[in-house]
Amino acid sequence: MSRPEILFPLFAPVSALSGVGPRIAKLIETAAGPHVVDLLWHRPTGLIDRRFAPLINEAPDGVIATITVTVGPHAPSHNKRMPYRVSCHDDSGEMQLVFFHAREDYLRKTLPEGEQRIISGRVEHFRGDVQMTHPDHIATLDERDTLQAVEPVYPLTAGLTHKTCVKAVRAALERVPALPEWNDKELLSRQGWADWQTSLKALHAPQSEKDIGPDSLPRRRLAYDELLASQLALGLVRAQYRRRPGRVIKGDGHLRQKALAALPFSLTSSQTKAVGEILADMADPARMLRLLQGDVGSGKTVVALLGLLNAVEAGSQAALMAPTEILARQHMATIDPLARAAGITVVLLTGREKGKTREAVLAGLASGETALCVGTHALFQDDVIFHDLAFAVVDEQHRFGVHQRLMLAEKGAGTDVLVMTATPIPRTLTLAAFGDLDVSRLTEKPPGRKPVETRALPLSSLGQVIERIAAKSALGERVYWVCPLIEESEVLDVAAASERFETLKKIIGDRVGLVHGAMKGKDKDAVMAQFASGEITVLVATTVIEVGVDVPEATVMVIEQAERFGLAQLHQLRGRIGRGAEASVCILLYAQPLGATAKARIDIMRQTDDGFRIAEEDLRLRGAGELLGTRQSGLPEFRLADLTVHAELLATARDDAALILSKDPELKDKRGQALRTLLYLFERDAAVKFLQSG
Ligand code: ADP
Ligand code: MG
Repeated sequence: MSRPEILFPLFAPVSALSGVGPRIAKLIETAAGPHVVDLLWHRPTGLIDRRFAPLINEAPDGVIATITVTVGPHAPSHNKRMPYRVSCHDDSGEMQLVFFHAREDYLRKTLPEGEQRIISGRVEHFRGDVQMTHPDHIATLDERDTLQAVEPVYPLTAGLTHKTCVKAVRAALERVPALPEWNDKELLSRQGWADWQTSLKALHAPQSEKDIGPDSLPRRRLAYDELLASQLALGLVRAQYRRRPGRVIKGDGHLRQKALAALPFSLTSSQTKAVGEILADMADPARMLRLLQGDVGSGKTVVALLGLLNAVEAGSQAALMAPTEILARQHMATIDPLARAAGITVVLLTGREKGKTREAVLAGLASGETALCVGTHALFQDDVIFHDLAFAVVDEQHRFGVHQRLMLAEKGAGTDVLVMTATPIPRTLTLAAFGDLDVSRLTEKPPGRKPVETRALPLSSLGQVIERIAAKSALGERVYWVCPLIEESEVLDVAAASERFETLKKIIGDRVGLVHGAMKGKDKDAVMAQFASGEITVLVATTVIEVGVDVPEATVMVIEQAERFGLAQLHQLRGRIGRGAEASVCILLYAQPLGATAKARIDIMRQTDDGFRIAEEDLRLRGAGELLGTRQSGLPEFRLADLTVHAELLATARDDAALILSKDPELKDKRGQALRTLLYLFERDAAVKFLQSG
């Protein structure tokens, strides 16, 4: 099964459009994307109203006007710095057209003396003359209707002109076929939506500012289509995952009891609730796919451990996978003593276990002798074979794609999967990223934590801050010093961190350490261990410490150029402190002047440490434009939908997708066929593959 023929014209390269040669194709690719369909999704972000058609002497300074003139004499320039002028007139007066670096033959051809032309552009009054510099359009009288209209304005890229882009989109629109309707009639009439083709054309023909916004009818319809395609795709992946039988995993609790007895604390009520939900999923014969959401420090590891032990009690194997070496080791450190208390051995498998050690680990997993395993991506490798993997926990799923998550599940028959995330992403995004997934949330912090005091200071206070840090360090307090992401270049980040490290070392002395992403795993661990033991008291770091790292003695965090970080990231970082019983302080150093969004972020950080609230604010502040954070977090990107405004459409799409798949799981009936086209249209080809046949 492959893309339906009706969509072929839309998936041709943009160079297939008339007027788009190889040079322009490259530019369009940068601005919109490589295929014709990408131009369809290239939304106008503004408009130019060319309907105002005054006489020359009625045209006010500074407005866009479309004026019908008779072309008069040309005055070519004889000097590169002087413009080429063409004077024109109508019954009311005279206007000068002004061109810099003009080509005379071209202007003689487009503006033949004595003929009438329609000129559109911005009118300027200059020393008593009316003039127009580089008119946007010069057209003949029969082109009046297309010209004297409202014109969409598109996001461009260097070298791509407005005119070329408009033309290319028009050419793309000409290729748009009428597609069979995939939406419910009732929904269309309730929302007041037109069919797909009409909506698309309307999207590119805005008549007013309101039409540009996310709430216009055509935009909402198309956003809905995109969301429906994405929810349907997620639903299909999930159905496929569920199709293979799961298993009943029901331990007798003897290991869990011992581990719980060895814990120096009792579980919070949301931990208890989450454990209950996980055990219920495991006991259910359907395959489990659950997300455990909990703020940094909310105690997810213990929750995961109880699930892992449940699988071991049932006589099977269980694995926990972390995105980095540091985290895998940290989980190991938490889990190992508790598992020991329960009489179980845990093995570690990361990229660093090599040779004999690795062979021994693999042998234990293959024979089933090893019941519990903690690791990194190394667990994915083909030669890692489990005797009977019943339960897999994947931590910090943002670093992994959906595909990888399910890959670990392939290592066992009917493996149940629990995904843990330390970023409390908002509900809308959870839904967008995972579809209708089962979610457990840890909403309370373990007792005894003192809230972190957060202060914001301008970078000019750097000297004072260093002094204070030096004093704290002398008392043995543990300090994180976080250096920002300067560019998307690790080399530069490392350079900045190294420089700060040298400065601090000069003032504070030998108890300053440095850890960054370009270091070898072994060296990183060594530094982290020194910091944990107190040999090092000030740890200069790039954002490698962002995820998971746990040193309860750390009470101070300085974040340099905090304005460069996203809200979620700041929250993640700050979560590294305030983990012990001592009061902690977080200092956000910012460079001036501070932009409005950066200021809002810092204010929110000072007001709250509720991760769920911060996540909502982050989504609100980030808006649709700033996709960088989304990209980093692995959340889906949408071309037409904007989750900050279309959340309610997303919920409808979720319900719609669920209903469709329950009635017609193979997308076979008439609407099902149309929905297949929708999936291809939004390039969810992989999901269509899960359908058995055409
Ligand atoms: P997360 O992975 O959610 O960021 P962790 O599982 O690493 O959090 O737990 C953070 C710290 O809190 C650990 O030191 C852990 O031992 C401790 N902890 C977990 N649950 C509780 C609890 N119920 N009461 C007190 N401390 C707890
Ligand atoms: Mg954790």
